[in-house]
Amino acid sequence: MAGIADVFTESERTNWLKAWLAIDIAKSGLEKFVETEATTLHGNIYNAILSSGAVACVDCHTANLLKCPSRGICNKRGAQSQCTSMHDSPLKQPRPCSANVCNRVRDEIENQHKFSNPSWKNTSANHWSSSPWHIAKAYFPPDGYTETSSVQDTDFNGIISFMMNCKHFNNTFSFPIAPGKPHPPCLLTKAREFCRTVRHSSTFKVTDTDLHDIFITLISLLTDTQCLAHDVDAREAVRKLAKLQTNVLKLTTEEIINYENFCKDIGRGAKVEWFNFDGESIWNKIEQDQKLCDAEEEELVLNMNTVTLVTRTQWHALSSKEDAQYMTMPVSHVFIHHTVMSECVSQREGAIEMRKIQHLHQDINRWADIGYNFVIGQDGSVYMGRGWDRVGAHTLGWNNKSISFAFTGNFTEKQPTDDALKALDAALVLGVKLGKLTPDFKLHGHRDARPTESPGQKLYDLIRKHEHYEPIGPNIVTFSPKSRV
Ligand SMILES: [Zn+2]
Ligand SMILES: [Zn+2]
Repeated sequence: MAGIADVFTESERTNWLKAWLAIDIAKSGLEKFVETEATTLHGNIYNAILSSGAVACVDCHTANLLKCPSRGICNKRGAQSQCTSMHDSPLKQPRPCSANVCNRVRDEIENQHKFSNPSWKNTSANHWSSSPWHIAKAYFPPDGYTETSSVQDTDFNGIISFMMNCKHFNNTFSFPIAPGKPHPPCLLTKAREFCRTVRHSSTFKVTDTDLHDIFITLISLLTDTQCLAHDVDAREAVRKLAKLQTNVLKLTTEEIINYENFCKDIGRGAKVEWFNFDGESIWNKIEQDQKLCDAEEEELVLNMNTVTLVTRTQWHALSSKEDAQYMTMPVSHVFIHHTVMSECVSQREGAIEMRKIQHLHQDINRWADIGYNFVIGQDGSVYMGRGWDRVGAHTLGWNNKSISFAFTGNFTEKQPTDDALKALDAALVLGVKLGKLTPDFKLHGHRDARPTESPGQKLYDLIRKHEHYEPIGPNIVTFSPKSRV
């Protein structure tokens, strides 16, 4: 038996391990509570519907309860195309519930969702009547939980998201959940942020200050006076956290050997088996969680279901070469660019193009990452570049106070497709809803700020007719056709 402080020689790496274990312990302390609440929510939904004499139905699939196409859920595009994702078999075609139950459950799940947009991909309607957890999964990040069937096999992120996204928890805690600015982030928001930081740390290091904050946050959450102070599991988790914090939590010899191998192998990037208290491989868990986290990063975007977003994971983005810089939200300027490269009429093509642009921006221009905040393909797909919050590299002098959208292609002599233009509008509406753009944001062409052809005359003509368009100072309309885009 050895203490956890003996595992690593580098203290910030020990901190990372402790942070990771702390999150795992906190999760175990929340499980029973969250499971009980999921059962209550399930009861509330079904009792209200079945009390009218209806009989629970097990014939419906999530797919047949959702219309086709459903943006962000299935992939039917246009009347001629086939849906090859959600509605891909005769059984899964949209049809009403024969018992008139599942459609009402669906509506109620949606009703209980803070952003009215449940994560349907995670959940199977034929389990709704028997499994409260299948309803809880509708409040998780949008993707990646299909196989999850209990609170035990759900990660911390999923559990926290359930509590944050479901109105059922509105008055459960002694604090308001994610009240937004000017209020400081609530404990759930902070816990989720820390979880992200730990998982995203490419160096596997956490500073002393961050570790301290992680413990404070998790312990405050687990001792919430309104719902958890007397919860047996939460109290046990708090005891364990205190031991971990003071380095007296004991690990078995086998665990130590595994940790040592793990640490040796981190340097080589090799995958090794590394076990936590329950004998579960933590390394596999990290890999899985990072996938979920990428999904979660775009969660808010997907939440609105109006934008066909291609995540960084989906286009196989490389990581940013520097730590991200964040803008103060909301911003009030949006710049439109064109890429003067391929038009990208499919996501497959778009993914290749995104990697190409990222390579140009990172390796030729020496920027940290792809410069644009978003890229819009001609099929209407919206590719995640730096996203809403991160400072981009697109419009000199404006990068830290604006969002950029680049249309794939050259729009000097032709207009973008309707799909691409609609995608821009949907993304702008979404940006305002998410609090990333001010409601009266100003839309500009790249050339309004810089002597450039971008976004191309034809696209620029359209932008100038947009209700949010506004010129900047002396409008630059003359340019050399050879100037850089
Ligand atoms: Zn479909
Ligand atoms: Zn049904």
